[in-house]
Amino acid sequence: MEVKEIREQIIKAGLRLVSEGLVARSWGNISIRVDEQNMLITPSGRTYENLKPEEIVLMNYHTLQYEGKIKPSSEYHLHAEVYKQRKEINAVIHTHQMNATTVAAARREVPPIIDDMVQIIGPTVRVSKYTLAGTAKFAKNAAKALKGRQAALLANHGAVCIGKNLEEAFAASEVLEKACKAFIEAEFLGGAKSISKFSAAIMHQVYLKKYSKLDKKNR
Ligand SMILES: [Zn+2]
Repeated sequence: MEVKEIREQIIKAGLRLVSEGLVARSWGNISIRVDEQNMLITPSGRTYENLKPEEIVLMNYHTLQYEGKIKPSSEYHLHAEVYKQRKEINAVIHTHQMNATTVAAARREVPPIIDDMVQIIGPTVRVSKYTLAGTAKFAKNAAKALKGRQAALLANHGAVCIGKNLEEAFAASEVLEKACKAFIEAEFLGGAKSISKFSAAIMHQVYLKKYSKLDKKNR
């Protein structure tokens, strides 16, 4: 995909995050991997409603240098770390979505409680170790919580969702919100009951295989 197209894709994704209630105002950020050096990332402190394609920042995720005068999102470390560590991942969404943030505030790992959460994200959703947001350490802790997963909770902050493409990262973000809501409410109904971690791991693997096969067919 061309850089121009990726910029437009990010604009659309930003509007979708707002309309689905996953972010508000200028909170949250989106990036897409462009190549082996660069990512395109939403700028710092701008609202999604008036964002223009040329305001999306091109940044080298190894050197952290960026093009132009517009500052990248303050969470650039988080996005850069994911692209450095996860070769199969090409899109990152960071949100402050409500139910995920509530679980992140309680620092509770989400157990395997819903089939589609398990399939799309993985057997559990971990919570990263608390550090100040925006720092390199925060990014490292997040990447650790993301190991083998498509989403993680960021302690006392929000969530990070990733995918082979933007569509997959969105799916992770939506299913995460649903799972966190179900988790909170099931705990009130006497306690969430988990699928066994073993079955959960198998379900995730089967999903990944099926999905990557479909992906090849569509190419
Ligand atoms: Zn944030």
